[in-house]
Amino acid sequence: MSAPLYDRVALIGLGLIASSMFWAIRRTGLAGEVTGYARSEATRATARRIGLCDRVCDSAAEAVEGADLVVLCVPVGAMGQVAEEIAPALKPGATVTDVGSVKRDVIAQVAPHLPEGVFFVPGHPLAGTEHSGPESGFAELFDNRWCLLVPVEGTPEAPIARLRAFWEGMGANVDTMDAEHHDLVLAVTSHTPHLIAYTMVGVADDLRRVTDSEVIKYSAAGFRDFTRIAASDPTMWRDVFLTNKDATLEILGRFTEELFALQRAIRIGDGAHLFDYFTRTRAIRRGIIEAGQDTDAPDFGRKKVVR
Ligand code: NAP
Repeated sequence: MSAPLYDRVALIGLGLIASSMFWAIRRTGLAGEVTGYARSEATRATARRIGLCDRVCDSAAEAVEGADLVVLCVPVGAMGQVAEEIAPALKPGATVTDVGSVKRDVIAQVAPHLPEGVFFVPGHPLAGTEHSGPESGFAELFDNRWCLLVPVEGTPEAPIARLRAFWEGMGANVDTMDAEHHDLVLAVTSHTPHLIAYTMVGVADDLRRVTDSEVIKYSAAGFRDFTRIAASDPTMWRDVFLTNKDATLEILGRFTEELFALQRAIRIGDGAHLFDYFTRTRAIRRGIIEAGQDTDAPDFGRKKVVR
């Protein structure tokens, strides 16, 4: 157990990320008290039943009262509205952060609501699963994963350093980045791949009607991996595409060009092009495994939920 980095942490939104944070905070004693709030009565009741948070509050304002760190863990599209709701109750000197998958839009939504004397240090843990809700979290989610901090201009070093130590305490490696760069990198590594998976599963779903469920019955590894990604939360991913529009469209444009080049290679029987392309992409997979960001295991290296 380490000494608490914050006396009180408030988690707003109690889904996969917030619940994983709570169990990770618990694991090493990173906070004195953790309060929590979720929009629906049902989620708050579940949180109370499973002991998620030391205190579950019935309003966001009540949860952030006296908190030294407030973490916004709601879908990207809801960040601004939540910031507006909690702003009058924030303690002077508190740090507000978020875990949203998009950064430029979240900063634009949240920053205008925050009062003077409150520090805003946006963040994004690059860790997740296709599951959502308060019961889906586990303490190990952030272990050896990256968390990107995207400090806004003029923020003093101390609150950034403390938040960095907090994420490191939850097992993550921390880097800082500017918001625009973050959104482009994530469009490549996460957002566009999700869109491709959604599309491929949609195509197979159309085909299923033709082949009478053979797509499900004989589902091979490639398709199964797509279905796992395409099972991700619809609200979260709708918001990601609506708020990271420019970067996603840029990468989708490039993707389409490459796809056409591969389509042409298949049509004209250019095996050398295909072979060279697949050799290059295989090396990227090896690089990810060597960097410790995945394993060779067929379950994508995900551990079973352990509390
Ligand atoms: P989740 O499991 O679906 O949980 C979302 C939580 O936000 C729920 O407690 C929900 O409350 C609450 N909420 C939803 N809409 C709200 C609104 N309009 N106002 C107030 N509360 C609202 O989501 P998650 O996967 O933890 O994602 C949370 C954030 O983390 C998102 O911004 C996402 O982009 C980011 N993120 C996700 C992943 C991932 O892989 N899942 C990875 C990194 C970052 P109710 O249960 O009461 O509806």
